[in-house]
Amino acid sequence: MKINFAKISFDKKDFDFTHNQFKIKGTFGKISKYLVKFESNLTGILETNCIRCGETTPINIDENISLLITNGIYDKEDKLQVVEIDGDFIDFDKLIKDELISIESGYFHCDSCKQDKNIFEKEY
Ligand SMILES: [Zn+2]
Repeated sequence: MKINFAKISFDKKDFDFTHNQFKIKGTFGKISKYLVKFESNLTGILETNCIRCGETTPINIDENISLLITNGIYDKEDKLQVVEIDGDFIDFDKLIKDELISIESGYFHCDSCKQDKNIFEKEY
């Protein structure tokens, strides 16, 4: 899903789309001429490989994603965390892909290895 930055209004708009096996639902709207606020909830099953045993584990993802998006004209002196886009379009698929990479990095261990780790930590 791609949206022209210039055409986004100050009224919050609902959106609903899918990215691979994930569902993303939320709102977006401008909060200033150069800033778009994106708030969403992402749900779906993420297949991830445990770095300890290599087991592929399906993980239920249910994450809230809030982002500020700028078209690059935004004053960088400001300390706010913003995502810069190239060109005129916000590529929602790319945004979600990037978020998924960071979500996935939080699930390095499968459940049984996590439990092993907990036991290990308790013993020492
Ligand atoms: Zn494991």
